[in-house]
Amino acid sequence: MSVLVVRNIGTIVSGDITAPITAGDTIVIRDGTIESVGDSIDADGVVIDAGGATVMPGLCDNHVHPVIGDYTPRQHQVGFIESCLHGGVTTMMSAGEPHTPGRPKDPAGVKALTILASKAFANLRPAGVKVHAGAVMLEPGLTEADFAEMAAEGVRLVAEIGISGVKDPDEAAQMTRWAQSQGMKVMVHTGGASIPGSGVIGADFVIKVQPDVAGHTNGGPTALPLSDVERILEETEAHVEVVHNGNVKAAGAVAALLVERDELHRLVIGTDSPAGSGVQPLGMLRTMSWVSSLGGVAPAIAVAAATGNVAGMHGLNTGAIAPGREADLVISDAPLGSQADDALGALSIGDTPAVAAVIIDGTTRVRKSRNTPPPVRTVGLPA
Ligand SMILES: [Zn+2]
Repeated sequence: MSVLVVRNIGTIVSGDITAPITAGDTIVIRDGTIESVGDSIDADGVVIDAGGATVMPGLCDNHVHPVIGDYTPRQHQVGFIESCLHGGVTTMMSAGEPHTPGRPKDPAGVKALTILASKAFANLRPAGVKVHAGAVMLEPGLTEADFAEMAAEGVRLVAEIGISGVKDPDEAAQMTRWAQSQGMKVMVHTGGASIPGSGVIGADFVIKVQPDVAGHTNGGPTALPLSDVERILEETEAHVEVVHNGNVKAAGAVAALLVERDELHRLVIGTDSPAGSGVQPLGMLRTMSWVSSLGGVAPAIAVAAATGNVAGMHGLNTGAIAPGREADLVISDAPLGSQADDALGALSIGDTPAVAAVIIDGTTRVRKSRNTPPPVRTVGLPA
């Protein structure tokens, strides 16, 4: 039995959009699970002194394009997942593995690759990061039985529709119904073409398909018109995603639209990386700062859009600081030199917060990020 106690916390950001700040200064973790959250809780165990810094849930990147292992052929880069951990990311959701060299497009090959990616990442957590991969790329010829077979093998995700062979909205809608009936979550690519082979997709397509997520509504990389985002909000129940690999101005505009419509529970944040724009280890934190500083989203709500909103949609027991949740936490602060006083203040002025420590399942995985500036406050970690 192991107990980790995080004390002297300045602010606890819950990840729960309905109550984004939790009162208290202490989090007690037992055997990798959050046991209690509150004020000066009496508990014996290994102590982290947060030194007045902010604690938020580990970030859940809703849009990642992994392949197999901690390597991306897209940028010939090794260790990108571990690098993102240093940006506070503890969970990654695949939006497809399109960068697989020689990716097969026949139904048997598609199924095999999807099941392989799903099972390989279930067996492997690079640097501790929980990568949920095996997102099926829709190709003509897949049948209802194929979706049932993949679901039985553990596949839970459909890759962003529009970047693979299925381009017809009726065919995409049919496969989406098959996938959703098996409990899979479905994303549609929106906006301009990302790479050769992908298409331009607007509101009409998304409304026809009725996915769970309208992917990168601020562009991946080219944004669709804001009026299309409005129609998606009106005519679907999909979450709307804002990503790092998009249009910065549109990120602010989509966020502001959600504030105006009081629909921030539908906002999910991702990076859409690796991509042509590269790998962005701080992409989640930066996108959170964009929606907050440019879109007027309260910073604790921006945290929820990058944690609890994503985990909730996918039915994961992470992404929130509450008893019973997996103890995936980021200790964060204003970066040294910032005009802000703390991590939330940094987000609200467009700075990227500092990551002082990252904890996954109660195990400290990062002791001062190598990728962010140092924190203002001193966080005391056990030797
Ligand atoms: Zn895309």
